[in-house]
Amino acid sequence: MSAPARLPIPRSLRVETLLLEEAGLTILASSEATDVRCPLCGDPTDRVHSRYVRTLADLPWAGVPVRIRVRARRFFCDNGACPRTIFAERLAAVAPAYAHRTDRQRDALEAIAFVAGGEAGARLAASLGYPVSPDTLLRLIRCAPEEAAAVPTVLGVDDWAYRKGRRYGTILVDLERHRPIDLLPDRTAEALATWLAAHPGVRLVSRDRSGAYAEGIAAGAPAAVQVADRWHLVDNLRAAAQQVLERQRARLPAFPVPAAPDAEAAVPPPAAPDRTPLGSYGRLSPRQEHARQAARTRRLGRYERVVALRAQGWTVRRIAREVGISERTVNRWLAVGRFPERKRRAEARGLLDAHRPFLDRRWAEGCQNVARLCRELRDQGYAGSCALVYGYAACLRTGIPPPEASPPEAAAAPVGQPLVPREVVWLLLRPAAKLAEPERLYVDHVRQACPVLATAADLTREFVAMVRGRQPERLDPWLRAASTSGVAEFQGLAAGLERDKAAVAAALAERWSNGQTEGQVLRLKLIKRQGYGRAKFDLLRKRVLRAA
Ligand SMILES: [Zn+2]
Repeated sequence: MSAPARLPIPRSLRVETLLLEEAGLTILASSEATDVRCPLCGDPTDRVHSRYVRTLADLPWAGVPVRIRVRARRFFCDNGACPRTIFAERLAAVAPAYAHRTDRQRDALEAIAFVAGGEAGARLAASLGYPVSPDTLLRLIRCAPEEAAAVPTVLGVDDWAYRKGRRYGTILVDLERHRPIDLLPDRTAEALATWLAAHPGVRLVSRDRSGAYAEGIAAGAPAAVQVADRWHLVDNLRAAAQQVLERQRARLPAFPVPAAPDAEAAVPPPAAPDRTPLGSYGRLSPRQEHARQAARTRRLGRYERVVALRAQGWTVRRIAREVGISERTVNRWLAVGRFPERKRRAEARGLLDAHRPFLDRRWAEGCQNVARLCRELRDQGYAGSCALVYGYAACLRTGIPPPEASPPEAAAAPVGQPLVPREVVWLLLRPAAKLAEPERLYVDHVRQACPVLATAADLTREFVAMVRGRQPERLDPWLRAASTSGVAEFQGLAAGLERDKAAVAAALAERWSNGQTEGQVLRLKLIKRQGYGRAKFDLLRKRVLRAA
């Protein structure tokens, strides 16, 4: 054949025939190597003993599996001193001895395995023309050689969960080279200490404020500077301020305060009238109403649990694990400062009220395609759901009169509303020069009504300025001020910071922080999820460490 010379076949093979079969394409080839040496003694030989056939899976051809059937030779070794008398020739640059796939197929499958893992990788490989099992792919990951990473001088340490709330491991990140360099199977001080002792040269370690890592670093790399994570510091502070506000909540005046100079106690105004119009499109059945109440009770229970745990000083992360909700929800709930009721239908319905004349007009014009109406409404700034539009359209279609639109005055923001703690924090922390007059009045009023809040606000502002300005020299005065402030939450916080003072001061002085490490934890989670629970530690470690 003349064409085969141009086929992408290794040079040492000569193609004899191509067979198109049910299972794919088979290439019949023979070995043409001339310089054959005994694998044991290395002596050259050309005395053929016999021939045999090796079958090697190769790269697929446009999705069609390809295998190479090589007629290989056995040779005599003529070296009298060599214990080997007969040997099979090696197919150098094609496949290793005893392998069932070519080197290039193994490389391709290994790349697929590292990117997609076992299960997804096997599905992807099958669609490309490599029939291969998930276990084979996982074996390829296990056997892949590991690149030796240089010992970092700046190390980030954080934990990650094998199973939320059950078992944790540790990730180590080279913060200068932006890459994970090792995974440890647990998050104990001993494991970290052992690793650090075996990898001398780490100069600085950024960690969260957990005691175990602090201990491990002190034991394994006593000379390394420990840096507490700035984000966690500010988060601890925010939590303390929030607790003070919760405690003082009842004393918070309404906003804006009455302008009268003798207004000593601003009485919170009556709550805004419930703008629930009569009638309903999409009224709840008793069963639905019951389910709604049950859901609310469950949600309220979770909310109360979150607040209680926070008051005990738990981190957002731990609370989320414990209660079984996302960190985002925990953060949102803590920020709002009161139980966030789900939007009632009537409230949501208010969103549609302003658009009803438009809907009526379009309906009368003959446009009764709800999806289209919904798009048109969105263009006009409608922020409610399409379900509401469907409900309203159903009323128009059936002739059942829709409920009255809400009275427009109820939709306007009522005067003199209590602010939620988050809004109060915002006002208290803003520089006085940036406050509008009613806001300035309000802040003055809050500071007079609750001296504790004034103190907490000053401490918070001072701390944030110190973190932003990277001014470790302000830490000691701040700790003194906080511990003598008489505000319990800040005294507790100061005591905790005092115990970890060197690392806190380093956080104020160093530019390193743990944000990058947390990003690597996210990547690890993605890989772990692809493993469908079969991601054993060694596999996970290999995949995480393979440079992304
Ligand atoms: Zn030999």
